[in-house]
Amino acid sequence: MNVLWIVVDCLRRDRLSCYGARRRPAPHLDRFARDCVVLDQMVSPHIPTQPAHTTFFSGRDVFDHQIVAQGGLQELDPGVPLLPSLLRDAGWFTGAVDNIGRWIQPAFERYDPYPRWNHDGSLPWRNGEEVTARGLTLLREAVQDPRPFFLFLHYWDPHTPYLPPPPFDRMYYAGDERSPGATSMDPVWNSPWFANYFREWLDGVRDIEYVKAQYDASIAYGDACMARVFHALAQWNLLDDTLIIVQADHGEELDDHGCWFDHHGLYDTNVLVPALLRLPGAQHAGARIAPMTSVLDLAPTVLQALGLPDRAIGLAGTALQPWFGGQTAPLREALYLTECTWMRKRGWRTGEWKLIEALEPDIYGKPALELYHLPSDPGECRNRALDAPEVVHRLQAARDAHIARRLEATGRPDPILVQADALRTWQPRFIAGRQGGTERSSVQQ
Ligand SMILES: [Zn+2]
Repeated sequence: MNVLWIVVDCLRRDRLSCYGARRRPAPHLDRFARDCVVLDQMVSPHIPTQPAHTTFFSGRDVFDHQIVAQGGLQELDPGVPLLPSLLRDAGWFTGAVDNIGRWIQPAFERYDPYPRWNHDGSLPWRNGEEVTARGLTLLREAVQDPRPFFLFLHYWDPHTPYLPPPPFDRMYYAGDERSPGATSMDPVWNSPWFANYFREWLDGVRDIEYVKAQYDASIAYGDACMARVFHALAQWNLLDDTLIIVQADHGEELDDHGCWFDHHGLYDTNVLVPALLRLPGAQHAGARIAPMTSVLDLAPTVLQALGLPDRAIGLAGTALQPWFGGQTAPLREALYLTECTWMRKRGWRTGEWKLIEALEPDIYGKPALELYHLPSDPGECRNRALDAPEVVHRLQAARDAHIARRLEATGRPDPILVQADALRTWQPRFIAGRQGGTERSSVQQ
């Protein structure tokens, strides 16, 4: 059996119709989802991009793999195997179209790192077309190889800054984004941190609906690119013998919590990600897994599907196969969350509550402690930390017990405490001068 694993960076789950999308910017993904098992509550516990990818490819949590931050402060211990290297050793052809590099690259036999994005205006900002073209070349190579394959394609199109090419750029917005009467962008322009960065691609924009429409248009562009991959899979008769995973590594903040147009914050807009599993022959199409799952569950699920469950020893997640057939029991009571972007936080998410605790002052001025009741407040808008202290204490105790268990089990330090915020360390000029720039968008992944 083959595996094709597609990550759409920054794709919010609420942009897919299977998760209740209002505007439907991804018709090809929506159609693809009809043949899939849909994971209703898939959490990506360690954000942003590099910790997330390390987590789902290793099947290990942040205490184990230690990759909590972006940047170059910590390298993955070569003793921590990643799924592609396990499969390569087991006889699979492994290939990727991706630009993370670092420890992801050597895990693959063939790694096609698309060149640095062309930002001179002659090509789309993110260029899903290039990912697709390289992906199809790699797929053709994989089909000709006698071994089964494991391929990874990494799309970036809805990543900030949202600069979709025409005709997508005006697909979801027909007004005048610079109308003098519009004021909805005022809070964005009045926030000091990223105003210079926003000015570079949104100068003069006064209507926040325009920016949200550009995010959706970027999704639509990437979706049109991915359609060619889905078409090739059908044309080359690969759908009966290939497990296809489509997921996001994290979501995105638009104007949900005052952290604009990026993936800051441990809110569900960021950590609850779309996840679609198309089994060979579209088995269990239409099934939904309701309990809270984690990207940690994906590696053991793939190993189980490939008949290699013995390779899953030491992984933190659970193979999801019993849930494909209707199992409804919870997989876990809670998940430990970490964020190391422009701020450093940790969280504890149960089916009912979300606790977020800042480890240094939040650049947006948010309180150090946030508590949300997810069933009654799924948008996480009403901070209950002050009026439910007993819940805070109960969740803190459970989280701290989990941390203590994991520290003892791994014998490694708590990475969120010993590693500084890599982005601040990496981009001191940006922080010191509060200056944005196009380079910033290339490093904030
Ligand atoms: Zn990402």
